[in-house]
Amino acid sequence: MKTVTILGATGSIGQNTIDLIARAPGEFAVEALTGAQNLDLLARDAVRLRAKLAVTSDPACYAGLKERLAGTGIAVAAGPEAVAEAAARPADWVMSAIVGAAGLVPGLAVLARGGTLALANKETLVTAGPLVMAAAQAQGARILPVDSEHSAIFQALTGEDVAGVERVIITASGGAFRDWPIERLAQASLAQASSHPNWAMGQRITIDSASMFNKALELIETHEFFGINPDKIEVIIHPESLVHALVGFADGALMAHVGPADMRHAIGYALHWPERRHVPVERLDLARIGALSFRAPEDARYPALAIARRVMASGGLAGAAFNAAKERALDGFIAGEIGFLAMAAVVSGVLDKMLASDGLQNATLTLDNVLETDRLARVRASEIIEQRS
Ligand code: NAD
Ligand code: MG
Repeated sequence: MKTVTILGATGSIGQNTIDLIARAPGEFAVEALTGAQNLDLLARDAVRLRAKLAVTSDPACYAGLKERLAGTGIAVAAGPEAVAEAAARPADWVMSAIVGAAGLVPGLAVLARGGTLALANKETLVTAGPLVMAAAQAQGARILPVDSEHSAIFQALTGEDVAGVERVIITASGGAFRDWPIERLAQASLAQASSHPNWAMGQRITIDSASMFNKALELIETHEFFGINPDKIEVIIHPESLVHALVGFADGALMAHVGPADMRHAIGYALHWPERRHVPVERLDLARIGALSFRAPEDARYPALAIARRVMASGGLAGAAFNAAKERALDGFIAGEIGFLAMAAVVSGVLDKMLASDGLQNATLTLDNVLETDRLARVRASEIIEQRS
């Protein structure tokens, strides 16, 4: 039996992962599940899947989780260190479905023991790509991408030589505001930004899809994970969200990955890799779909894409600063401190400051300097947000 741990089990990706595991009774044994404040769901799934350990990242939730699991024999722990310890336990396969930079340390804990890390948490690679890839290599650990675009690229590259890749194209739905007049974007509300045309996801990635910060993260993720030069990576708007990515080779061939907008496809691929097994997603009826459309993203609508190019050109700790500034700006938008378009302005402002004065570009990454850069970028973003209001 394959042992699995799910970090971020209560979220959108975590629940989709559990759905696949629950459908295959007897195939998987659950080592640990982690979550944050949704204790009812965490406890319910820990019992249902007979997990050995349940962890909440919030120390204040320890008693609540302990109470819910009293008498079940399931061990309980709390706090960020306990999440990393859960990741370090010897499961065959670990899903990292935590949202944000909080996924970095637990992900590294999996790699440090040579484990297999199914990585939905793209922030792990954006904040510390070179460190993460080196940690995997040093221990012979494996990272299986779960972001749909990266799973698609990974699948298109099977049996191919990455050196022969001419271009990689990642698709974007265009998010909630793809057809809005650009002048209206400044007034976009939280509720409007929190609804996605094609995918059902957590709130943060949904807003990041509307602003295209999600695609900005994914550009960097593609560069870090596959080692592909930034100038070979393109973004195309594809409103149907059925083609997830395309890989172009030296002979001009483009290999496209096509599938429904259902994350269980990419999760299932990582769960069963290197085999392909049945995954209960919709089978596409191409005649009914009829046509697929593509268009270039507009720079003025999606300033996040140019920011990602700047981050990749800078290298070093720029990714850590970028991700943290983006997270803080997103917190600000969610809290009503700043408007929708101000998120990009805040992130650019942080990069202006930090790339000019904090020597980020030539730094060799360590966990300490990554975490320190993350902390400082949040402070800088808060300063800019305060000045604006
Ligand atoms: P979500 O908000 O639905 O779930 C996040 C999970 O992380 C929850 O279990 C939550 O309890 C946990 N969590 C939150 N803060 C934490 C912290 N500080 N420490 C530890 N755990 C914490 O998010 P999601 O949409 O499932 O996305 C998870 C990750 O997967 C993100 O990195 C996202 O970008 C990526 N991703 C998601 C999708 C999708 O379809 N939802 C697609 C591709 C990639
Ligand atoms: Mg994606």
